[in-house]
Amino acid sequence: MLSIKNLHASVEDKEILKGINLEVKPGEIHAIMGPNGAGKSTLSSVIAGNENFEVTEGSVSLDGEDLSELSPEERAHHGIFLSFQYPVEIPGVSVTNFMKTAINESRKARGLEDMPANEMLKLIKEKAELLEIDRKFLSRSLNEGFSGGEKKRNEIFQMAMLDPKVAILDETDSGLDIDALRIVANGVNKLKSDKNAVVVITHYQRLLEYIVPDFVHVLMDGKIVKSGTKELALELEEKGYDWIKAELA
Ligand code: ADP
Ligand code: MG
Ligand code: MG
Repeated sequence: MLSIKNLHASVEDKEILKGINLEVKPGEIHAIMGPNGAGKSTLSSVIAGNENFEVTEGSVSLDGEDLSELSPEERAHHGIFLSFQYPVEIPGVSVTNFMKTAINESRKARGLEDMPANEMLKLIKEKAELLEIDRKFLSRSLNEGFSGGEKKRNEIFQMAMLDPKVAILDETDSGLDIDALRIVANGVNKLKSDKNAVVVITHYQRLLEYIVPDFVHVLMDGKIVKSGTKELALELEEKGYDWIKAELA
């Protein structure tokens, strides 16, 4: 479904990604781990189409379609979802109204009419129930005064509503407390199916106790240097990354 081939990307002429290969199939959960500065967030930005990064070689495709010429919005409409690391506050716009607008923008971009109001309400109700999100939360101003956990709840709600093919969750937030961790994990576990895939980027082994990955990849200095199963995450937790460096050298 998501196919990354020999991906090289630079920022300000500095090469950050140095030949990434990754195949993600429907129904799979992949975890990407690695030391700070390895290029994990850069990889998620490049997949999402962030224009601050220049792809110098290789490709990212979704269901066989090369994404390289597509804007971040177009990629989102094709089914790529990237969690927001720095969510914007929009006072006076509720969680629900923001979501309604986003859904209808996405439909418009695909040549569809607005979703009928009753259908929209039904969808919101269904997803909110699934994720145990209460009405009060849905009417709050977007991100205004949100705790870490509430920001995560909002993100997971957006993910549920947009129903992406590939969700990329970059959990760099050092403020990710146990509450927020559980919200993300429960959300992912409820939303995953054999038709979608999740890429979780984290340096918390702990998150992977709740979201059990099918594959774990270690990203170091812009390359995936090791791949394995969930046991690899445990090994990293125990031994850090130096042994991999030694193995490579
Ligand atoms: P990680 O998420 O693995 O901690 P990042 O992808 O954030 O790593 O960063 C990888 C490298 O790219 C770092 O050396 C970082 O300083 C650099 N980098 C990332 N974004 C930018 C940018 N916009 N401008 C300059 N350097 C950047
Ligand atoms: Mg970092
Ligand atoms: Mg990062």
